[in-house]
Amino acid sequence: MNKLSFRIGGVHPADNKFSRERSIETLPLPKTVYVSMAQHLGAPAKPVVAPGDKVKAGQVIAEPGGFISAFVHSPVSGTVKSVSMRNDLAGRPATHVEIAVEGDEWAEGIDLSDTLVSEIRDDRQTILDKIKACGVVGLGGATFPTHVKLNPAPGKKADCLIINGAECEPYLTCDYRIMVERPREIVVGAAIMQKVLGCRCVIGVEENKPEAIAALRSAISELGYRDMEVGVLKMCYPQGGEKQLIDSVLRRQVKSGCLPIDAGAVVQNVATALAVYEAVQKNKPLVSKVMTVTGNCLPADRMHNYRFRIGTPLSFIIEQAGGVPEGAAKIISGGPMMGKAISNLDACTVKGSSSILYLDAESTKRKPAGNCIRCGKCSDACPMGLEPFLLNRLYKAGDIEGLEKNAAQDCIECGCCLYSCPANIPLLDNVRQAKAQALGAIRARAAAAKAAAEATKK
Ligand code: SF4
Ligand code: SF4
Repeated sequence: MNKLSFRIGGVHPADNKFSRERSIETLPLPKTVYVSMAQHLGAPAKPVVAPGDKVKAGQVIAEPGGFISAFVHSPVSGTVKSVSMRNDLAGRPATHVEIAVEGDEWAEGIDLSDTLVSEIRDDRQTILDKIKACGVVGLGGATFPTHVKLNPAPGKKADCLIINGAECEPYLTCDYRIMVERPREIVVGAAIMQKVLGCRCVIGVEENKPEAIAALRSAISELGYRDMEVGVLKMCYPQGGEKQLIDSVLRRQVKSGCLPIDAGAVVQNVATALAVYEAVQKNKPLVSKVMTVTGNCLPADRMHNYRFRIGTPLSFIIEQAGGVPEGAAKIISGGPMMGKAISNLDACTVKGSSSILYLDAESTKRKPAGNCIRCGKCSDACPMGLEPFLLNRLYKAGDIEGLEKNAAQDCIECGCCLYSCPANIPLLDNVRQAKAQALGAIRARAAAAKAAAEATKK
C-alpha cells in the first residue's frame, strides 16, 4: 500500500491510543450548562437571550459578532439564568450564557433519528446557509467558521478537499471512534462539502487506524461516490497539521504567509464533516461532539469516548468518569503535544474540546534545561522548516526583526522541537512567544500602512 507523508521534519511519539476500543457513550445532562460566546475563531458571538428566557435544545442563543464568527445554540432545554463573564479553560474571561437544564426538548424541525439521509438535494448556497445557521466550525482544533472556509474569496479555487482523519496526537481517539461508528455520515458530509467546492476529495487517515480506513472505504463504495478516496498516511506527527496534510496528499507546499486555498486545497476535520452532515441533512445545529477521557495514570476501565453537550462543565465530565485519578500531575485539554493545561476545572466544554488527558508526574516533569549543544535536532524535526534554536536565541535577545526574517510567524506550535531537544530547552514556550511578537510586528505594520493609505485618500 502506498503510504503518504509530508517531506519536512516530524517526530514519532508513541501513539498511546489506549481508549481506541471504547465505543462512544452519551453523557447524561448536567444540571447547568455554561455556553461560551467565544468558542470559535474570530469575533465572539452576541447573545440574543436574557435571564428568564425559556430555551429548547438547538435554539439560537447567540448570533455571529462579525464576518468571521458563528451562531451559538442552546445545547439543552431549560431557563437562562445569567449572561455573564466566566473564565474559560485557559482561565481567560469570556461571556457565557448560563442555562439551568430542565429536560431535553428540541427546537422544531430537527431530525434526531439515526436514519441516514444520503441524497444531497440542496444547492451550493443553501448548503452554505445551513452550515452557517447551524453554527458549524472546524472541529480539528482551529474552530474556524466552516461556511467561511468553504467559500473562498473570488479568484481562489480548491481542486481538492482533504478530510483530516489523521488524529496524529497521541492518546486521542474521538475522531477514530466517529470514523468507525459513523463512517457513512462522515462520507456524506464530505460529499456535501465537495458539492460546495466542486472538487475531488481525499480522506487522510493514519496507518494505525486500519478499521477506520476500511469503514470509510466501505461507506464510499456503498454510497457510490466517485472522486472520493481514502489516502493512507504514514504515522508521523504532525501528520494532521493542515500544511503537512496538503504536502502528504498533494505534494504541494503552502508558502509562508499563504493559506491552504493558495495551494488549491481546503482541509476539514472528520468531526466537521459529521457536523456538516447533521446540519445540512438533519437540520441539527452543532450542540454536541465527542471527546476522549484518557491518560497514562487512568485505569483502562475509566477511559472513555463521550458524546457531550457543549457547555457541560469539565468538573461534571470528570466526576462521571470517576474523578481525577490518583497520580495525575497535569490535566490537559487536547493531546500531549499541542494541548493546553487546564487551569480551571470549573470551566466548560466548547465546540473545540477534544479530550481530558491526565498525565503523571514522570511524564510532565520539566527536566533542567542545559545549554544548546548545536546538534540541529530541533531543526531536523521542525515540520515548517524553521530553525528553533535560532528563534530561541533571537527571542531571548529581543530581536523581533530577526524573528520575522526567520519566519517565527510560520510556527504551528507543534512541539516537535521541544520533543527532540536533548538539552531540554523550553523551545515550544519560547517559539510561541517569538511567533506572537513577529505576528504583532506584522499586524502593526499592516495597520499603519492602512491608516496612511486612508489619510492619503482624504
Ligand atoms: S513548535 Fe514551531 S518551531 Fe517548534 S517544531 Fe513546531 S513549527 Fe517548528
Ligand atoms: S535540539 Fe536543542 S540542543 Fe540541539 S540545536 Fe536545537 S536547541 Fe540546541
